[in-house]
Amino acid sequence: MSRPKIAILGAGYGGIMTATRLTKELGMNEAEITLVNKHNYHYQTTWLHEPAAGTLHHDRTRMSIKDVIDTNRINFVQDTVVSIDDANKTVKLENGELTYDYLVIGLGFESETFGIPGVKDYAFNIRSVDTVRKIKEHIEYQFASYNNEDNPSEGMLNIVVAGAGFTGIEFIGEMADRIPELCADFDVPREKVRLICAEAAPTVLPGFDEELVEYAVNLLERKGVEFMLGTPIKEVTEDSVILEEEEIKADTIVWTTGIRGNSIVENSGFETMRGRIKVESDLRAPGKDHVFIVGDCALIINEEINRPYPPTAQIAIQQSFTVARNLKTLINNGKLEAFVPEIKGTVASLGKGEAIGKVGNKKLYGATASAMKKIIDNRYLYLLGGIPLVVKKGKLKLF
Ligand code: FAD
Ligand code: NAD
Repeated sequence: MSRPKIAILGAGYGGIMTATRLTKELGMNEAEITLVNKHNYHYQTTWLHEPAAGTLHHDRTRMSIKDVIDTNRINFVQDTVVSIDDANKTVKLENGELTYDYLVIGLGFESETFGIPGVKDYAFNIRSVDTVRKIKEHIEYQFASYNNEDNPSEGMLNIVVAGAGFTGIEFIGEMADRIPELCADFDVPREKVRLICAEAAPTVLPGFDEELVEYAVNLLERKGVEFMLGTPIKEVTEDSVILEEEEIKADTIVWTTGIRGNSIVENSGFETMRGRIKVESDLRAPGKDHVFIVGDCALIINEEINRPYPPTAQIAIQQSFTVARNLKTLINNGKLEAFVPEIKGTVASLGKGEAIGKVGNKKLYGATASAMKKIIDNRYLYLLGGIPLVVKKGKLKLF
């Protein structure tokens, strides 16, 4: 009898961990597992603010997929998913086609533009190794060009970050550290550079602990960050952002106003909310017995507050354990388990050696929070590839 085919789309946190967990749950002859990813490497999205600012080389955030999966058990296909035809259980790839009996969709997120004019054309986003390399190179080019211009443009050294959510704040923390280095490298006076964060809500990190937010804002303002709160960006042009009552000249605009699910999912006919599928409790797509969703493509509701859980790597990783177990059960005709997220906390970095966080009821600040963030990063590497991967790719210097 032929083995059932499991196709996993995307090798981010959700996808690669599902593949790895499946090799532990299933016997050699129980299923044929295929993992598809655009690149031949897995990158850690949660570190991308660092290479974006240039405080960490992008190679530190990525690793060869074949080095971390069991290639005897998982067939890795490097290709780009174009669309999913679930009626025919087929995935169209840029260079071929794939059929499946069971599907796991883990294609991650896209930057949410809310249809604001100019964002797609003129703003950068923190999405992948490819997009963050561009940010770093662009900023360095702006600094390198400055002293070569007779009349530098008004916004040449202005960096505007749209949105003060966790992504925006973590990037600003790194950028605030990087600017003095760039100024020294390219002989640019610090006062010529502006780092501005425009946030629509009346506060930074809306909904997060007020004391921790105050700590973050004070620290970042001391490092020269200018916050503009209650100021939604209405439009982005080639060299500026347009707010309700003013225009700020800036040749670098980094867009971090939230995310939506990968558009391939909704374009393939799945019902979505902001590109995310509201999954059943067992993480299957409604009405699709054989399709599981992991990570940012899945929408799960926190029943206590009747609102979606924020899409995080923490949840994507936990979901992969449930999906792998449920696939095993499904293949063997058992009862599927419900996914119950266990939110351990949130820690956000604010640049070198600085962070804020809440773990359980405990608030963490400064060096302790920063060390905790590195422990969380290392823990993921441990789950994926054991101690060898922690040694190879981990953040071993905690303080
Ligand atoms: P991803 O990890 O984004 O992976 C998706 C994969 O699919 C990628 O490998 C991509 O290349 C691949 N892919 C996409 N399209 C295609 C295609 N068409 N064909 C083939 N392959 C494709 N969460 C936390 O819990 N803690 C944090 O500290 C944290 N920090 C963050 C910091 C930053 C800067 C950002 C941007 C996010 C952070 N998050 C954090 C959120 C977290 O990164 C996401 O929730 C998580 O990456 C979602 O995992 P995923 O598996 O759904 O997608
Ligand atoms: P977000 O939705 O958390 O924050 C986006 C921010 O942009 C909000 O504060 C919003 O008010 C603001 N905004 C929206 N439209 C705007 C506009 N037109 N002009 C100005 N501001 C505008 O999104 P994110 O920061 O991209 O994070 C995405 C997900 O990743 C979240 O679930 C987050 O929790 C997670 N994440 C977690 C961490 C961490 O745990 N350390 C780090 C980064 C991201």
